[in-house]
Amino acid sequence: MSKLLHELTIHEASNRLARREISSVDLTRAFLNRIDAVEEQIGSYINITRDHALRQAEQADRRLASGDGTMLTGIPIAVKDVICTKGITTTCGSRMLEEFIPPYDAFVIDQLNAAGAVMLGKTNMDEFAMGSSTENSAFRPTANPWDVRCVPGGSSGGSAAVIAAKQALGSLGSDTGGSIRQPAALCGVVGLKPTYGRVSRFGLVAFASSLDQIGPLAHDVRDCAVLLEIIAGHDPRDATSASLEVPSYVKTLTPEVAGLHIGVPKEYFVEGMDDSVRRTVKEAIGKLEELGATVDWELSLPNTVYALAAYYIIAPSEASANLARYDGVKYGFSFQEGATMWENLEETRGRGFGPEVKRRIMLGTFALSSGYYDAYYLKAQKVRTLLLREFESAFERYDALVTPASPTPAFRLGERTDDPLSMYLSDVCTIPANIAGLPAISVPCGFANNLPVGLQVIGKRFDEPTVLHVAHAYEQATNWRDRNPEL
Ligand code: GLN
Repeated sequence: MSKLLHELTIHEASNRLARREISSVDLTRAFLNRIDAVEEQIGSYINITRDHALRQAEQADRRLASGDGTMLTGIPIAVKDVICTKGITTTCGSRMLEEFIPPYDAFVIDQLNAAGAVMLGKTNMDEFAMGSSTENSAFRPTANPWDVRCVPGGSSGGSAAVIAAKQALGSLGSDTGGSIRQPAALCGVVGLKPTYGRVSRFGLVAFASSLDQIGPLAHDVRDCAVLLEIIAGHDPRDATSASLEVPSYVKTLTPEVAGLHIGVPKEYFVEGMDDSVRRTVKEAIGKLEELGATVDWELSLPNTVYALAAYYIIAPSEASANLARYDGVKYGFSFQEGATMWENLEETRGRGFGPEVKRRIMLGTFALSSGYYDAYYLKAQKVRTLLLREFESAFERYDALVTPASPTPAFRLGERTDDPLSMYLSDVCTIPANIAGLPAISVPCGFANNLPVGLQVIGKRFDEPTVLHVAHAYEQATNWRDRNPEL
């Protein structure tokens, strides 16, 4: 049976557009209809930009007709609402920025526009990307398309759910401590966090600047490679952006892992991990071995156990500094009825931020305060260096590391909202790659209790090609992507 338009992958749609078998306007309409059919149930989007999308689709059709399209020309995608879009609200899932309209586009939006992509809308997220379930959105939670009683993961829950629910062909998310990979795992889609510095952060609303990175989510590894190739690249407006050339991630994809050395760091199989996740991930690693990779099952990276604690010092510290700018003067919500400037400031921040954001600001302000700085922030930075060195020495022996992406499958909505610590534990497998700035992907590797499980592949700095290649080889040898949520 031939696929419906909203069931295609980016590369399939791109081929059909290039051959002029379909138009971008038809494709975009198909997605807008699909959004109308399922959005009430899922809640992936904060803002659906219909007119903008149809205008871009018409332009794309003209470009395709003149024969100078790219792999993304006319392709409908969705963008996490933490990425600035000129003239289109960018809320960060917060009351603070509910009416904020950026006067400029983020670097990645410039790249997508130059490639001729079509933006369907801005996706739901935990407020300021703080969370692992999208329940911290000030607007509404997003449901997991595989089971609407469950969370989609977070903070890029909307960007993962749009793919699983087929409400976009691809999406962009941001990953500070797992926010692309964990929701990708929980929603059964592919999500890639690039190397820190590979994609410009210009126009990405800052959470923790030394960790934040934008990356793609899609149905398969090839589609992630397509998106990465477009959004990567040097940008002088982000001082940490790498000036390395962008390789063709798509051309170098091969389904071959024979000869690769893969390490399985045992610390990622944490205590309290769901048994069926453990089993599923180990079977997936067994598959890589069957495909000819040399797998070391006994690797130990002992400093891994400190990553989570270091992250929950470093990320809130940077957040407390970054979020100081929301004072009601320059951006967003502003309370003006107070008797004094101080009262206005207090009310602006008190009403504009939700409880998790306030918790992070307090944690970070405490960790940075005089007398505690050495004990917390400085110590966490030292742990960061140790983790980095440990990864570096592992990568002298291994081409890639493989681990679970999340210790459990999707959990129930509401299950962890009153227990911040159990929510923070959702990130235990994904955080080390952020701390060390390494590229990492989550690729679907099976099901636990009928909910998707993700296999994480971590690579050397700027070695996205190997990360994509291992994930692609696994994906091509299995058929998990043929299974779809019933909506
Ligand atoms: N869940 C983590 C946190 O709340 C990671 C968030 C992210 O990657 N943006 O900090």
